[in-house]
Amino acid sequence: YFASVPAAPADALFGLMAKYKADTFDKKVDLGVGAYRDNTGKPWVLPVVSKVDSLIVADPTANHEYLPITGLPDFTKSAAKLILGPDSPAIKENRVASCQTISGTGANHLGSLFLSRFPSSAAPPKSVFLSRSPPSPGATGDTPPRAAGGRIWISNPTWANHKQIFENVGLTVKQYPYWDPKTLGLDLKGMLNALENETRPGDIVLLHACAHNPTGVDPAREEWEKIAAVCKSKKLFPFFDSAYQGFASGDLERDAWAVQYFVSQGLELLICQSFAKNFGLYGQRAGCLHFITQTAKASENVKSQLAFLQRSEISNPPIYGARIVARVLNNPELFNEWKENLLEMANRIKSMRDALKSELIKLDTPGNWDHITNQIGMFSFTGLSPQQVDRLVNEFHVYLTKNGRISMAGLNTHNVAYVAKAFDAVVRG
Ligand code: PMP
Repeated sequence: YFASVPAAPADALFGLMAKYKADTFDKKVDLGVGAYRDNTGKPWVLPVVSKVDSLIVADPTANHEYLPITGLPDFTKSAAKLILGPDSPAIKENRVASCQTISGTGANHLGSLFLSRFPSSAAPPKSVFLSRSPPSPGATGDTPPRAAGGRIWISNPTWANHKQIFENVGLTVKQYPYWDPKTLGLDLKGMLNALENETRPGDIVLLHACAHNPTGVDPAREEWEKIAAVCKSKKLFPFFDSAYQGFASGDLERDAWAVQYFVSQGLELLICQSFAKNFGLYGQRAGCLHFITQTAKASENVKSQLAFLQRSEISNPPIYGARIVARVLNNPELFNEWKENLLEMANRIKSMRDALKSELIKLDTPGNWDHITNQIGMFSFTGLSPQQVDRLVNEFHVYLTKNGRISMAGLNTHNVAYVAKAFDAVVRG
């Protein structure tokens, strides 16, 4: 049986991490890592998380029982408020269907699984979709249709995992232009043109809520308005991936602006929410999926289908990370402490952007490096070529992904000058 199973391709990022670990050079630098590091290069447990940890350990009523299928209500409700805003009409009108997930990855999976099972009614009828009514012969009517179909548009480039998550549930993945290598910024014209002219009604459009991974380039507010207008006129379904709220700018409201704007425009959409980066809870897998519907009844039905799908996939989501997040979000004092911790991370990253750019300017490195400080969030898309990246890894022990993406969190006051010198050397050739 197993002799015929071929080896799967290695995950590029995790391969890079293994190579970094095995490197014995004392000045090696890890710019591949997608996790926050403090100024000494160490993982950082947020002080507010440590505090809540001890509260939970000391709480005699806390146990390790199963959560409900759709998760911890204190967590999912406060998570919805965090991304939609405390006064969101969608919340007040019960038009939000929330389900706790295995962090952001699980939200991307469950959200796309749902959409592949329930294609938009705006989509042209396709023979590949099994009809929802009447039920096929033998169907009991109490299971979701096993249709595999629908199209999702993802940015070029995007987070490396999006394509395989969506293909895994049977969606057809298409790409819209996003990064302009000439301006090292957003290709808004190309993006709008593809959404306007190449999509079909009912297509899904993946959008990064803030701090686009891997480019660090976000649309400006007036650009988001244009994107929302196309989604509305072309009947496209926005699929927001929010992995960096608060971590990106240090301002929770600002990082949620695009999502809240789309909701205010009356669009139905979904949001994948991760608490990996903004709480430093990477391994705890605390995440949430929210569907915004037009009616309370639709929301109830969607939630029941999410529970149905979740039951056969993971049965119940993990409790510990969700409990930490819920305690922080539901306590004003802890919430304020969390905001301070967020600011500390965001400010350190911003100061590393400034430091890297000024070191490059000091060295008179050929090229314009403004994009390093214009970009936002964990990553910067440097514009370095695959050949330059190879030299950085192999000659200078500076580890970054082939596409030239660097994690700003891997920089600190001890290594930024060394990294700038290495960049300078490979750029000069
Ligand atoms: N979406 C994006 C855009 C991301 O960058 C990440 C993390 N790298 C995720 C989703 C998922 O992260 P997690 O599953 O750890 O929450």
